[in-house]
Parts: sequence; C-alpha cells; structure tokens
Amino acid sequence: MRYPRAEWVPWKPAAPDGRPTYFAGQNRPTAVVLHVMQGYQSTVRRWAQRGHFGVSWHYSIARDGSIMQHLEHSDGGYHAGITAAKAAADPPTWELWRGPGQNVNTYTLGIEHEGFAGEPFAPAQAKVSRELCRWLARQLDIPMDEAHFPPHAAIDLRDRPNDFNTPALRREFYDFLFKPEEEPMDAACIEELERRLSRVERITGAHGIDVDGERLRGDEALDDLDRRGASLALYAERLNTAILDHLADHESGRL
Ligand SMILES: [Zn+2]
Repeated sequence: MRYPRAEWVPWKPAAPDGRPTYFAGQNRPTAVVLHVMQGYQSTVRRWAQRGHFGVSWHYSIARDGSIMQHLEHSDGGYHAGITAAKAAADPPTWELWRGPGQNVNTYTLGIEHEGFAGEPFAPAQAKVSRELCRWLARQLDIPMDEAHFPPHAAIDLRDRPNDFNTPALRREFYDFLFKPEEEPMDAACIEELERRLSRVERITGAHGIDVDGERLRGDEALDDLDRRGASLALYAERLNTAILDHLADHESGRL
C-alpha cells in the first residue's frame, strides 16, 4: 500500500553487512505509532538508500510538509520494538499493547516527524501529518484516537519520554489531529460546486483531467474522488485546481 502523496524512497532491505533492515511481509497494522525524528529528512533519505541498520519505519514527514514512504504497510519497521526485560521494568501504558510476547513492529506502522522534541511541528508538517493519519485511518479501518495513534513514549517509557515531543506539545498536536473534520459546505457552496462540476464534465468530456497524476474523464474523476471518500472541501479544492489547470492548457494551446 502506497500513500499517493508520498515520494517512494524504499528502505534498502539489507544493511551493508547483510542483516535485514526490517521485517519483510510480517506486519498486520492496526495502529500507527507517532515519533519525532531527532534529526533531519536528508539524513533519513541517506539511511534508507544505504540500508541503515537498527531503525526503519514507514513514513517521514519533513518540516516543509513533504513526505517520504519507505516501507509497504505489510512490512514491519524497527521503530517501536521493546525488549521483554525493559517492558517488565517499565510496562508500556499504550492501551492496545499486546504484551511482551508479540513484537510491536508486527502490528503497527511508524511515522517519523522531522525535527526535535521541544519544538512544535511546523504548520505545513502538522497539516500533512493529519492528512496522512486520516488516510491511514480509512485504509486500516481504525478510529482517529490516541489508542490507534499512540506516541512512542507510551511504549518506551524509560528512553523515549519525549517521543513524539514533550507532553505539552504532544497534547497540542493531538488536539489538532483529532479535531473533527471540517463541516460540510452549506447549500450555496454545494450549488456553486455543482455548477462547476457540470462545466468540468462538459469541458473535460473529450480530454479528461488529471487527478493525483492520473488522466481521468470527468465522470471517472468524480467516481474516483467519491470512492476515496474525499471530504467535500478537499473535493472542491481538487476540482478547482483541475479546472484551472485545464483552462490554462486550453489557453496555452496545448489542447
Ligand atoms: Zn520514536
């Protein structure tokens, strides 16, 4: 499973010394562990490309809002594992933890956020992280709550108390993350949208429009957005962009 808005930067499956860098094909994710990187996106790119051993995860979100995906959801990273001894000394407080007998990395995905504990996520980064989490919630069929999006701190109490982030900044992000989605548009907006839709359908009937990089006819594009359960606001935003791009193509004589 790939997130359409992420750049695919696969984690090399073997380290230079041949050890595997992740649990290939051994993951059945039912939750998403959130982390702060304590580092930079550029470092992660190098680590993934050369098969850095000892840590690996699914998504990295930069402070500018760009996203890399490194593993398939069916692969387990090395991002939230905990030894039985450590778990016995400081038991995880995460309510969906399955105990020391099952590796956390075989039932979770991992998202790392560029930056350092003690600094809030950048606005673009927070927004993109929320979009990704909402998409993952739909894909994995899990609710948007802290149990299903735990901080690493709730698993490794001793060594990761500020992962992701210090407790106060973590709370702030969770409030943002779990705030209900925007209200649907009012009647006037819907009418305006429908007017635009019919125009799009007319002008794109012949040529098609680009939706997330795919060339689709107008009606296919609508079905596609519908199928993905896009919110009305997002739907409107994408269509608006598609209309403007399409008109620009006409004006520039490319169509
Ligand atoms: Zn972590």
